[in-house]
Amino acid sequence: MTHLVEHLAMGTLPRLHHEHNAQVDLELTQFTATGRPDQIVAYLDRVCRALADLPVDRADRESGVLAAEDGCAAHPTTGALLSHRYGVQGLGLAPWNGPGPDRIPLDAVRDCAARFFHAGNAVLTLTGPPPPGLRLPLPDGERPDRGSAQPVRVAGSSWQEDAVPGPGLGLHCDLADQGVQLAMAVLQERLRTVARHQRGLSYDVSCDRALSGPGRGDRVIHLDARDGEERQVAELLWQQAVLLAAEGPSAQEVAEEVEAARELFLDPRAVEVELEFAANAELLGWTYRNVADRLDLLDKVTPEQVREAFAGAMDSALLAVPAGTRPAVRRADGTELPEGGCAGNTELPRDGRTFRAPLRDRLTGAAARRARLVLTEEGLWARMPSGVVHHIPFADVVGVEMHTPGRVVFGRDNCVIPVMPELFAGIGPALRAVDEAVPAELRYPASAFTSAD
Ligand SMILES: [Zn+2]
Repeated sequence: MTHLVEHLAMGTLPRLHHEHNAQVDLELTQFTATGRPDQIVAYLDRVCRALADLPVDRADRESGVLAAEDGCAAHPTTGALLSHRYGVQGLGLAPWNGPGPDRIPLDAVRDCAARFFHAGNAVLTLTGPPPPGLRLPLPDGERPDRGSAQPVRVAGSSWQEDAVPGPGLGLHCDLADQGVQLAMAVLQERLRTVARHQRGLSYDVSCDRALSGPGRGDRVIHLDARDGEERQVAELLWQQAVLLAAEGPSAQEVAEEVEAARELFLDPRAVEVELEFAANAELLGWTYRNVADRLDLLDKVTPEQVREAFAGAMDSALLAVPAGTRPAVRRADGTELPEGGCAGNTELPRDGRTFRAPLRDRLTGAAARRARLVLTEEGLWARMPSGVVHHIPFADVVGVEMHTPGRVVFGRDNCVIPVMPELFAGIGPALRAVDEAVPAELRYPASAFTSAD
């Protein structure tokens, strides 16, 4: 929705020859430009006027552009880890497509613009003096309250399969803790050395972060894996993290990362990033520290502090692995790292109405013979061919995608239950029950841009 607002605003601009762009991520929507003072004044004026009076009549065309662009607000591995941590709400929405750009109600677009795109929720940063004639003609508005952090749904450590391109590790922590930050940098370097240079299993190792409230959030490290090596890379990632938490980094490793940070912060080209940091802090309610203060703090961090901070954060470690990967991973105390999500759920309720796969499928496939859909007054259960049972209480439904006929039901805890005639026979009563139990505003027609599967 935010991406559509951004596109609608940018779509009003005439052809401009100076550099300009816009982007949306989990935290901010940014409109950026480089040019002469008069060009910047004209650009900001046009963007603000468009946001104040959004041309929603163009939404049809722009939604096609969004589908073609197929952008996402976060790396898919980061998104999956956030969804495991927070459930399918707030930050946890990151990896989900939702209704698709062609099914967003225009009222919702207008409402989004009115809530967020106003003077009370905007910060302008400039790398030069304010140009003469600068105006930001945005409507007045009140900044949304961001005083409390989004609560987590999964606090302890576990691993889980998901639609991720490679393994990733997510830690819930104090984002201002320099110890965890340095530990992630050391871990990144160690993984580069082992997974890439020594064993040739990976190409890219990246760090990421997401803010869940003032100071709190998640740090993520993810890497790609050569085809067929997903399990080995996932185990390597986990083992290296456990090792770092147990033994800590060497003084040399910490010094290297502090030096790398110093180089990065003091690069004159980093001024734009610094300004973005400061704007982000102002808008999202965390405390910005300038470069000198940050370097001072980094210089004081000892290897033991890094170890301690990282070991604490590892209590919340979530490991995401590509579908079909089953890593053998143990915690520092030797206990097995449990599989999260619905693994281990195999019980179906006895009092519900049961639906089976169509007869033809049951005759030809063992998988179809195991599949069950169960409906009770409280919600839906589905037993997959693997034997795992997923459950979505109606109170926890976050969306229903409507097909003709059929419904795909999305639950807050990452379960997806397809109430589809291809999979289950005679589902009329289940469809009616879903439509009765789920509020109309959570039901949307399937996007014309995506196929039913
Ligand atoms: Zn489930």
